[in-house]
Amino acid sequence: MQLELNDNVTYLKGVGPKRAENYKKLSVKTVKDLLYHFPRDYIDLTSPTVIKDTQIGETYAIAGRVVRKLPPARIRKGMTIFKAVFTDDEEDLTVIIYNSEYLFNSLILGEPIILYGKISGNMVRKEMNSPTVFKIGAGANMQPVYPMTEGITQNLIRENIKNALSLLNGRIYEPVPSGILKRHELCSLPYALYNIHFPKDDYSFNTAKRRLVFDELLTLGLGMLMLKGRNREQTPNRLSGADIDDFYKSLPFSLTECQRKSIDECISDMKKDFPMNRLLQGDVGSGKTAVAAAVSYFVFKNKKQTALMAPTEILAAQHYETFKAFLEPLGVNVGLLVGSLTPKQKSEMYQKIQDGEIDVIVGTQALYQQSVSFCDLAFVITDEQHRFGVDQRASLSKKGVNPHVLVMSATPIPRTLALMIYGDLDISVLNELPKGRQKIQTYAVTGRLRQRAYAFIKKELDEGRQAYIVCPMIEENESGLKSVKTYAENLAVNDLSGYIIGLLHGKMKAAEKEKIMTCFKSGEIDVLVSTTVVEVGVDVPNATVIMIENSERFGLSQLHQLRGRVGRGSEQSYCILVTDNPTEDCRKRLKIMSEISDGFELSRQDLKMRGPGDFFGSKQHGLPKLKIADMSEDIEVLKDAQEESKRIFESDPNLKRPGNKGLKTLINELFERQYEN
Ligand code: ADP
Ligand code: MG
Repeated sequence: MQLELNDNVTYLKGVGPKRAENYKKLSVKTVKDLLYHFPRDYIDLTSPTVIKDTQIGETYAIAGRVVRKLPPARIRKGMTIFKAVFTDDEEDLTVIIYNSEYLFNSLILGEPIILYGKISGNMVRKEMNSPTVFKIGAGANMQPVYPMTEGITQNLIRENIKNALSLLNGRIYEPVPSGILKRHELCSLPYALYNIHFPKDDYSFNTAKRRLVFDELLTLGLGMLMLKGRNREQTPNRLSGADIDDFYKSLPFSLTECQRKSIDECISDMKKDFPMNRLLQGDVGSGKTAVAAAVSYFVFKNKKQTALMAPTEILAAQHYETFKAFLEPLGVNVGLLVGSLTPKQKSEMYQKIQDGEIDVIVGTQALYQQSVSFCDLAFVITDEQHRFGVDQRASLSKKGVNPHVLVMSATPIPRTLALMIYGDLDISVLNELPKGRQKIQTYAVTGRLRQRAYAFIKKELDEGRQAYIVCPMIEENESGLKSVKTYAENLAVNDLSGYIIGLLHGKMKAAEKEKIMTCFKSGEIDVLVSTTVVEVGVDVPNATVIMIENSERFGLSQLHQLRGRVGRGSEQSYCILVTDNPTEDCRKRLKIMSEISDGFELSRQDLKMRGPGDFFGSKQHGLPKLKIADMSEDIEVLKDAQEESKRIFESDPNLKRPGNKGLKTLINELFERQYEN
């Protein structure tokens, strides 16, 4: 039989319609899907554990033999339990198998085998439920362990994959041009697919893995470049030259060089023959808002509208105030649209947006509601972009005719990664802070020094400054964690009595939150006790101290965001990280925090400590799901793949050449997968 990669898995031995259904739960439909269902781990059969050293709840490979098989016990209809006694000649354990007579029968008395599975039972009698069984001496020493689902066993997957590989017999289409394989010393695809499942040794495993990681990153990189290319085919919403000197003149400060450069980059994008699609990356406090305001003024001068979308109402309100202060004196009408407006206020605002009476509209997700339509939307800004999905951005863009897009991100990430993740965007970077900023002094302390920290805060308050105290939790019941409410009440009567203390948490109504923020901004509130809702974007330059309780609960990037609430003016600012029970990991993190202030460097460290899965959080970055590549570990391959994708894209942007056909298929598959789950 000639098996093809795209054949259904039912072509394989032992896979009928029912198993095929089960395989679907693993997103495996075709033979190819099966071959790309990579092991999540490997069992090293060369160094099994002895039963005596095993712990309940852990998973092991144990060498020994079955010495006794008990009669099957039928406990109820459709449920039979098979038991066998297994020994490593030192200690015994009971093997328990539910329903699978087949597996039970495959256990042959006295035959040396290796069992792989989780130890259960108790100290007196250890058990292993439904183990995976390996015959000793059957070849490979590294055995694959696959992600599983009901109705599929490790053995079945292994056998099916073996079967598929032998039926294909090397007839696996090579999607990557041979020049590229040579240049990067990559193995062939058949070799890679065989050895990722059944590696002979570390070398063959690493060789196989590097090839597959390369394919995946090359596909991703090229796919992102093609997205960018597609954007470039759109009709431009071309704006013409208009000078914005009066904006520069009216600012209370002069812009940093990189702010000016970013503004120029945006403006020149807007004059090109395709719409702008740009990311503005800048560390906390680098002044992204002023850049956005400048560019929207340019759009205003072209008599067109701008929409700015922020992730929270607090931030939307703040941007609204900032934009008003910058732009209203220059004749720009700025509006605010958030969910908490009354229906009447909303419909009035809708009308004004539609009539073109509003030039710049600032808001939350409320902006992309159906009822909002624009007169002439030419520019869409989204702030703190990691909170929005790609599709949310897109749905706002649909309200104009190919509007220009600027995405502002406060999560600085290393350049190689940015290039990959935001491959569809051009990038502007704010890598210098406004003049006169001082490094925020950061201290990590235990709860014993809390009183001293309060005394320190008091000193700052007495000099006319303000402070944040961040408590991560709102509920009282979480053991030992500080509830913001009681915390604030205690402060008001004890350590900080005589000062005005405000409270901010996520469960408050939007209007209440806004009122508190307004009071804090205007200086009526001295100390803002808050949950993490202040994490992003909030800007009160007169605040010079931030104290973070339970700081062990935060990762580096989040701590950096929180710390960025201070140090936004020219005064020396301070960050006090409090923790009551520092673990080793936490100590390390807090030490890094006190030493490093550069956001880019911190995110590199964060990536190193947490891995990219956590770092990017679920699916928020909108990237297709990767199967094997790990963008923090595979940096070298990432660079190679990036370089190569650029080269290919430049010479054949639509992958029309016959030699690039395989790549095109890979890209379609990768980007389709994103929308499946
Ligand atoms: P972020 O990049 O974190 O969003 P913001 O745009 O909120 O930063 O700016 C932080 C603070 O710095 C604001 O108070 C803003 O008015 C101020 N600022 C921005 N640019 C400059 C500058 N060039 N010189 C002095 N202050 C600036
Ligand atoms: Mg901001």
